[in-house]
Amino acid sequence: MANKRDYYEVLGISRDASDSEIKKAYRKLAKKYHPDLCPNDKEAERKFKEVSEAYEVLGDSKKRAQYDQFGHAGVDPNFGAGSNGYGTGGFDVDLGDIFDSMFGNGGFGGFGGFGGSHRSNANGPKRGQDTFSSITISFLEACKGTSKEISITKMDKCDKCMGSGAAAGSKPTTCPNCGGMGQVQMQQRTPFGFMSSSRTCPKCGGKGTIITNPCSACSGTGKKSKTKKIKINIPAGIDDGQTLLVSGEGNAGSNGGPYGNLNVAITVRPDPLFKRRGFDILCDIPITYSQAINGADIVVPTIDGKVKYSVPEGTQPGTTFRLRGKGVNKLRSHGRGDMLITTTIEVPRNLNETQKKLIKQFDDSLNEKNYHKRKGFFDKIKDMFS
Ligand SMILES: [Zn+2]
Ligand SMILES: [Zn+2]
Repeated sequence: MANKRDYYEVLGISRDASDSEIKKAYRKLAKKYHPDLCPNDKEAERKFKEVSEAYEVLGDSKKRAQYDQFGHAGVDPNFGAGSNGYGTGGFDVDLGDIFDSMFGNGGFGGFGGFGGSHRSNANGPKRGQDTFSSITISFLEACKGTSKEISITKMDKCDKCMGSGAAAGSKPTTCPNCGGMGQVQMQQRTPFGFMSSSRTCPKCGGKGTIITNPCSACSGTGKKSKTKKIKINIPAGIDDGQTLLVSGEGNAGSNGGPYGNLNVAITVRPDPLFKRRGFDILCDIPITYSQAINGADIVVPTIDGKVKYSVPEGTQPGTTFRLRGKGVNKLRSHGRGDMLITTTIEVPRNLNETQKKLIKQFDDSLNEKNYHKRKGFFDKIKDMFS
């Protein structure tokens, strides 16, 4: 899925194209690359499939909305056109439909002889749809990894008929209309000769089999909505907004196709102490002005517990110290980020008169040598006004 081109790009239209613009663009390209018009042209066939797939999604307002929100992950083209799980197979486009609507009846000829060479695998196995869920975890859980049980609802195989859709003791039978192909050939006589095209079999909906005695539990669909609990392992280092893919926990496939995947959106609760920047953890630590002046061993909270850190003499407010390897586990890599602590200095309040006097006395005893920044600042003012 990663190499797929953007559907809007495939059809050569803008993201805000109207329904009729989408249809027009599709018709033009489908005509250009139709396999009946470009026989034995592999590149045209590939393009035709790409265009058909893009139209199948963008031509359907519901799928288009999903695609706009989730990209290719939001719409699974392998699933076919029907929301019931066995669609038309996606790539079966009736050439007659394209030309009828473009040129009206007649006025286009030369088709006799080809047609029908393009066959889709409508009754082949189809992967189930991907599903979406979400989970909120704490900051620490995101840093250290965790496993969580979540409850999901998905379309699963019906237990009673094991997914066949047929009642106990019976079996799906080959569709008499299409002989199991899932496709029927249409021959149409036109003033210019016969035109042949294939369509999804209307009797079996492209499955190739029909159920005469449907399973009572699933009404013959072979699928049932099920809610179940699953345990998901969240790797250390995951961040807010990332999505975890749980393979095989999406909806059941059709005609023996595999299950889709489950996408779990991760939300990380903000932490009162820590913030995260990439794989580094940031933390502000208030120290007293006396600790700032004299230096001190302070207690630093980390995701591994408390550690001691020696703040040097004369630490200024806003100084950041780096504790290497105390950050977050690097997802899909080795090692950990760092812990960055930034000192803030709290000015004491509510002092009594004696305390204030002592501070004043102390401050009066200081000179330029003790106040580097202040001296620099006043020197600049002097220069400016002299
Ligand atoms: Zn059929
Ligand atoms: Zn059933």
